[in-house]
Amino acid sequence: PAYFDHNATTPLCPAAREAWLHASDRHWHNASSLYREAGLTSQALEAAREELGDLLGVEPERVVFTSGATESNNALFAGLSKCLAPDAVVAISAIEHPSVREAARAWLGRGRVIEIPVDPQGLVQTGVLHTLVQQYAPALVSVMAANNESGVIQPWQELFKLCQENGVHFHTDAAQWMGKLPAEELGACNYITGSAHKFGGPKGIGFLVLAHAAESFPLLHGGPQEHGHRAGTENYPAIAAMVAALKAANKGLPEIASAQSHHRDAFLTQMKLAFPGLRVISERAPRLWNTALMVMPRHDNLKWLTRLTRRGFAISTGSACSSGKEGSSVVVQALGASWEELKRVVRVSGGWDTTAEAWQDLATAFEEVGTELDAGGRPQDK
Ligand code: PMP
Repeated sequence: PAYFDHNATTPLCPAAREAWLHASDRHWHNASSLYREAGLTSQALEAAREELGDLLGVEPERVVFTSGATESNNALFAGLSKCLAPDAVVAISAIEHPSVREAARAWLGRGRVIEIPVDPQGLVQTGVLHTLVQQYAPALVSVMAANNESGVIQPWQELFKLCQENGVHFHTDAAQWMGKLPAEELGACNYITGSAHKFGGPKGIGFLVLAHAAESFPLLHGGPQEHGHRAGTENYPAIAAMVAALKAANKGLPEIASAQSHHRDAFLTQMKLAFPGLRVISERAPRLWNTALMVMPRHDNLKWLTRLTRRGFAISTGSACSSGKEGSSVVVQALGASWEELKRVVRVSGGWDTTAEAWQDLATAFEEVGTELDAGGRPQDK
C-alpha cells in the first residue's frame, strides 16, 4: 500500500536495520558490567553519543538517550519543576504536540504555562514573543522546530536569538525536523528533543539535549546510567540504529527536499483543481517538504480515510496522537476553524523515496472517492 503517514511514524530504513542487527549480535552486553565485552559495549555507546553530538553540533555530554520524544519532553518539564522557582512560568506555542503541552501543564501546573499564539499561517511571530517575554519573563520558551500536522517550519532561529538576548532558555521539539532538514542547525538551542521513529529509526528510542552536561535532570531514578541522568540498562542496539538512520536520512537531503516538495505541490495543484473550495492549511508558510494538511470542501475526514484505505492508501486525520477523538486537530483549532471544518481535516505525509506517481495516484484516488461520496457512497457503506 502507498504510505502517506510518515509524520506519524516511518518504516525502519535499511541502514538502521543493519546497525540494529550488528549491535544486537556484537554489543548486547550490559554497558555497566566490568568484563571486556561490556567495556566494548560501553565504548560503542559513547561513540554513538559522540556521533549524534557531531550531527547536532552539540557537546556529546549534553546528549541523554531516552525512549522517545514524549519521554524527552516530560523529562524537560519534570526537571524544570524541580529546579525553577515556584512562581516561574514557561511559554509554549499554541500548536505544540500534546507531549509538550500536557507535560508542561502536568509537571508545572496549568497556571504556570503561557501559550504563545500563532498568526493565521500558523507561525509564531518574533514580535509577539518579544512582548510576551517582556511581560511575563518566562524561564523557558518552547517552540517546536516543525509542526507534525501542518508541517509548518517555525522561525526558531530568530525566536532562539530573541530568547538568548533576554536570558531565557529555549527548547525546541525537533521530532519532525530531524531527518527532514539539516540536523546541525539545531545545535544552537539550549534543549532539543528528537525521536528515531520519525526518521527511519526504531520506535522507543530518542534523545534530549540538555543545556549543560552537569545539569541535574533526574529523568529516571536508579542506577548511574546516562551519566546519572537516566537510570536503566541502555538500549544500545536502538541507539546505534537511531544514529545510522539519521545519517542515512541526512544523505542527499537538499535534493530529496526539492524533488519531494515538487511532488507534494503537484499533488496539491491536482487536488485544488479537483476540489474547488479545498483549503490548504498554512499554504503560505514555510513547510516541511513532505506534508500537506487540508480541509476538504465536503464529507467527514473518516469517510475519506476509510475509502482511501480500501484503495491501499494510508493517510491521517490531523495528528495520529489525537485521532480517535474525531477532528481534534490542534493546529486547525489554533487557527480558529469551525467545528464543521475540523471534521474535514486530512493530513498526508510522504517519505524520502515517495515517487511522483504515488503522489499522483493518491490525488486520483481522492477524486474517485469524492465521486463515490457525492453519489452517496456504495450501498454497503450506508
Ligand atoms: N513531538 C512531535 C512534534 C511529534 O510529532 C511526536 C510524534 N507524533 C512526538 C513529539 C512524540 O514522539 P514519540 O512517539 O517519540 O513519543
